Amino acid sequence: MNKPLLKILSASIGITCLISTLFGLAGSTIVGTFWGWFWVSMLLMFIGFAVVNSFLIQRDDAILRQTEMEALDKLSKFTIKLSCSYCQQSNAVPIQLNQRNTFKCDSCNQVNGVSMQFMATSITTPVEGVKLPLETPIEFKVS
Ligand SMILES: [Zn+2]
Repeated sequence: MNKPLLKILSASIGITCLISTLFGLAGSTIVGTFWGWFWVSMLLMFIGFAVVNSFLIQRDDAILRQTEMEALDKLSKFTIKLSCSYCQQSNAVPIQLNQRNTFKCDSCNQVNGVSMQFMATSITTPVEGVKLPLETPIEFKVS
């Protein structure tokens, strides 16, 4: 365990004991015993700490999830250049893959729809892997 954590831990245990002692002293003057008050107040403080801790952890989780969602949202946005279908003016258009996209032309104010098409392509074979047919010698024309 590192030193600052140990310091914080011992300090909080010390404060908890101190508060419990104070409650014990104050409570025992009204009703019951010092130790009764001491343990009850210590138990209540531990429950309080547990509740606060779980609340903080949940809040941190919520913040983390929100930042993740925002990051995903940013990632799903692309800006591409498209020519207006009315006047052919080039526009920078933000595109999101998970929704229908439209844009208003900067030049003619017409609303364009965006159609996306995806194609599968074969990846170019490395040059070493290409076997040239032996029976057809390559001819170079020199002019
Ligand atoms: Zn236009």
